[in-house]
Amino acid sequence: LDVAIVGAGFSGLGMAIRLAREGRSFVILEKAQAVGGTWRDNRYPGAACDVPSPLYSFSFEPNPGWSRMFSPQAEILEYLERCVEKYGLAPHLRLGTEVTRAVFSSSDATWRVEVAGGEPVVARHLVLGLGPLSRPLVPEIAGLARFKGRVFHSARWPGSASLAGERVAVIGTGASAAQLVPPVAEVAARLHLFQRTPSWILPKNDRPMTAREKALFRRYPLTQRALRAFTYWTLEALGTGFTVHPVLARWVERVCRKHIAAQISDEKLRDAVTPRYRAGCKRVLLSNDFYPALARENVELVTAGIREITEDAVVGLDGIARPVDTIILATGFRATDLLTPLEILGRSGVDLNDRWRQGIEAYLGTTVSGFPNLYLLLGPNTILAHSSVVFMLEAQIDHVVGCLREAQRRRASSVEVDEVALRRWNEKLHRRLSRAVWASGCSSWYLDENGRNPTLWPGPTFEFWLRTRRFPSESYRFS
Ligand SMILES: Cc1cc2nc3c(=O)[nH]c(=O)nc-3n(C[C@H](O)[C@H](O)[C@H](O)COP(=O)(O)OP(=O)(O)OC[C@H]3O[C@@H](n4cnc5c(N)ncnc54)[C@H](O)[C@@H]3O)c2cc1C
Repeated sequence: LDVAIVGAGFSGLGMAIRLAREGRSFVILEKAQAVGGTWRDNRYPGAACDVPSPLYSFSFEPNPGWSRMFSPQAEILEYLERCVEKYGLAPHLRLGTEVTRAVFSSSDATWRVEVAGGEPVVARHLVLGLGPLSRPLVPEIAGLARFKGRVFHSARWPGSASLAGERVAVIGTGASAAQLVPPVAEVAARLHLFQRTPSWILPKNDRPMTAREKALFRRYPLTQRALRAFTYWTLEALGTGFTVHPVLARWVERVCRKHIAAQISDEKLRDAVTPRYRAGCKRVLLSNDFYPALARENVELVTAGIREITEDAVVGLDGIARPVDTIILATGFRATDLLTPLEILGRSGVDLNDRWRQGIEAYLGTTVSGFPNLYLLLGPNTILAHSSVVFMLEAQIDHVVGCLREAQRRRASSVEVDEVALRRWNEKLHRRLSRAVWASGCSSWYLDENGRNPTLWPGPTFEFWLRTRRFPSESYRFS
């Protein structure tokens, strides 16, 4: 095989579509029994994208049928499934195939990809589309294991979970909680929301797409492209506040404060949901129904912290035991832990996990020296706080194809980024990151345990795109 792809989310499928067009042989190894990644896993009520759908989709596959500006999970999943069908990816898919280890063989420049309970796959190139937000973070809370009721992470929502009439604890107030709390609060008898740090929340400019708009998009696809471009540049302009100028962050704070004032009348609750850090330091959320949900009679916002969990209750640091039937962990993902438990052994048997212990890094977020013919999609410093990661992903896919084509042109069997090019890239990146709002003193999932930011891209996204326009062959070694 030319290429083995791991993961069948936006990344893996996007890569596969491109390789099919390039006429390459490839396989997609996916550990789950279905495609979709994030959008297969996050089925909680209210799950939707928080980047407008015209932009949160592949540039080459616009969908005139989006039902809303911010489409719900089921529609995004359907969109990805349609891509599999339209681009004939099914014969390349191996579902239920978990990759456990991949070893590079220097003698024949191939990757031997080991899978749980099956024959290894051998391919010249290996592309990892493991998903930056695919490994749920389960917090270590004293007593969690002895709770007798139901406990689940928001990304592992049980199909049968009816919470009607139940007493529910939701732990966490990040992006998933902001989406799931309103619908759960509507059916639960009681909802206790445990907040460690509040998020800045902007109004969500969501609305149904009208029948006229959909017809227009179908008839004149250029109109949907125009909406995509408008969305892109609007978000890009807003994003500069986080990356270039903090003045915009202050403006965001003002809008958020007004949003709180308009939706919550209780002074104490207003105060409890108002963050004390600069907007943008943690992810800014979008919601129109989160604050009204907190103001409901059956909802309690607990800011005291959690002391322990008993067999039937969550006990706060305020000493109050709140009896619950179900605990929902809306505690996010291990975003800075990109590979675990996967083992990737490069040239000379070096483990990528070990290599990254000093700091996660990849050239253009994609390639790592010492690991020839290996590519990471949505790898280090490619996630965005303000726009669609699919844009970044497509630029990365172009770069991977650049590597493959250049290797072929030179009749090289291996392509590896130069150590010095990678160092330079990373030093510049982290200089910029140290001045950005994410380094302004809050703790967030963007940062690792040393306070380093291995997740976000620190500039305008078109800058990343521009850097992948031309293949930088001077930064690579071919052999
Ligand atoms: C609730 C939620 C909402 C989001 N909303 C947005 C949004 O609005 N805009 C935005 O830009 N981003 C959003 N994101 C980020 C989102 O993760 C990305 O946009 C995108 O879906 C990532 O695609 P991916 O293919 O890289 O990863 P994923 O979709 O996570 O897919 C990774 C795939 O790899 C598989 N896999 C992992 N390890 C292995 C292994 N060892 N062997 C085989 N298969 C493996 C997984 O099973 C999974 O199917 C959101 C994330 C979440 C969780």
